[in-house]
Amino acid sequence: MSLINCSECNHQVSTLATSCPNCGAPIKMTSSQAPNTNPTTIPDYEQTTTVQETSKTLKMYIIISMLMIIIGVFATCTHIMNDSKSFTFAPFLIVGGFLLYFVTKFRIWWHHK
Ligand SMILES: [Zn+2]
Repeated sequence: MSLINCSECNHQVSTLATSCPNCGAPIKMTSSQAPNTNPTTIPDYEQTTTVQETSKTLKMYIIISMLMIIIGVFATCTHIMNDSKSFTFAPFLIVGGFLLYFVTKFRIWWHHK
């Protein structure tokens, strides 16, 4: 147990105290005590973010594939309404969207195995 000076009133305060008994100001943890919590929190945080980022990427692929299908269907409807005989990219968007969707679903299943 050691004594430190209060940052507010300069009163001598124990490092174990949470607040200054003289003025009631909260006692800041000294630099020698602070790193005790860091080694355990950092790996946990990194592990969580890695898992979250992987699932986020897969979710993004699902959203992209959904958008491709929606745009493809929308483009097909517009194409039919306009009675156009020109070449359309819509079927490729729908097929591509479904392919991306099933590949991503497979990757999620593979990931959870
Ligand atoms: Zn104080």
